[in-house]
Amino acid sequence: MRPASLRVLAGWLIDGSGAPARTDVVLEIKAGRITAVRPSGRDPLPPDLDLSSATLLPTLVDAHVHLTMSGSADLARRQRQLRMEYPEAEAVIGRHLARHRRRGITVVRDGGDHYGHTLSYKHRAAPGAVHIAAAGRAWHAPGRYGRLIGRPPAARIELGAAIARCSVGMDHVKIVNSGLNSLRIFGKETAPQFAAAELRRAVAAADALGLPVMVHANGRHPVAEALAAGCTSIEHGFFMGRTNLEAMAAGSVVWVPTVVTMAAYGRHLAQGREIGGAAADADLDVVRRNRDHQLAQLRMARRLGVRLAVGTDAGSLGVDHGTAFVEEMRFLAQAGFTIEAIVAAATSSGARLAGFSDRGRLAAGQRADFIAVPGPPQTLLARLTAPPALYLAGRHHSSG
Ligand SMILES: [Zn+2]
Repeated sequence: MRPASLRVLAGWLIDGSGAPARTDVVLEIKAGRITAVRPSGRDPLPPDLDLSSATLLPTLVDAHVHLTMSGSADLARRQRQLRMEYPEAEAVIGRHLARHRRRGITVVRDGGDHYGHTLSYKHRAAPGAVHIAAAGRAWHAPGRYGRLIGRPPAARIELGAAIARCSVGMDHVKIVNSGLNSLRIFGKETAPQFAAAELRRAVAAADALGLPVMVHANGRHPVAEALAAGCTSIEHGFFMGRTNLEAMAAGSVVWVPTVVTMAAYGRHLAQGREIGGAAADADLDVVRRNRDHQLAQLRMARRLGVRLAVGTDAGSLGVDHGTAFVEEMRFLAQAGFTIEAIVAAATSSGARLAGFSDRGRLAAGQRADFIAVPGPPQTLLARLTAPPALYLAGRHHSSG
């Protein structure tokens, strides 16, 4: 018989809010929700679940993925994944979700695919342990970058009108407002894809539907325009510069820096392999400088108090679903963020972006979804390279 309530003893707790880690804490859980978090003190009864040698934290949220694409470096396979029809996509997405779950990631925020298969999956496939927040098909300007993940508005239709018409079943709107980063010319910026006024009306149209807007933007102007339009988050944000970071801090706009994409390109090129497509002449030195510049922007963001969410862009070349997540967390550590701030970016920040108010923190009223990682918070990032123990509604979840 299932007991009515459950007491879990945690050696250490990082609650996802950014607050300092606590030691020897008891979580009280009833009907899958946390009812209290308190010091273990002189508890007369042994806990139902003793995790006194582990650090507990909320289950993780990858704030930027592309579920139809795998991180595979096999260019033929990548091409195939760009063209596949729904039944094949369903199998691919299912495999990627299993990888997220194995790494303790229970919410993913998808940045779009050309055919909208991920959105279809969300509404057609049986729900599993990993929740998908889906953009369906991203929006890009005609003739500009973005075909792999979306489509342009139809001829003579404004972006805002297209959003008002084509957002059924979506959790957020994804707009592409710049090109990709050059892997050949360091710091090369591209022009915004949409005019400032059109972008403003587009965000207003999404707002009217109650949908947050994630904007792919690199470079000063594309980011400044997205911020002026009132977007919810900036995705990538390479080379956006200090003024934009200050505006993000002031306006509580979330930054998803996806540093791991450059690290993955770097590994690929260092093995003497080609990236193909538009990046066929990529230069390893430029890729490394792109990464280092993003790390410098992260340090600036830390000093300015910009809110971050950990997102990997999983599906990008060399960025594998699930395993890339801890690598991105480690870049935040390199930029000087505390472990509590990193966990907040990896949990509550992304959960909010995905529309949840009852996930991403371990506090009274929240879902009792957590991972347990052996050892204290100081060793958390090293230990997270192995799959953590996953608990949903306070119960151990086996990935079987
Ligand atoms: Zn992306």
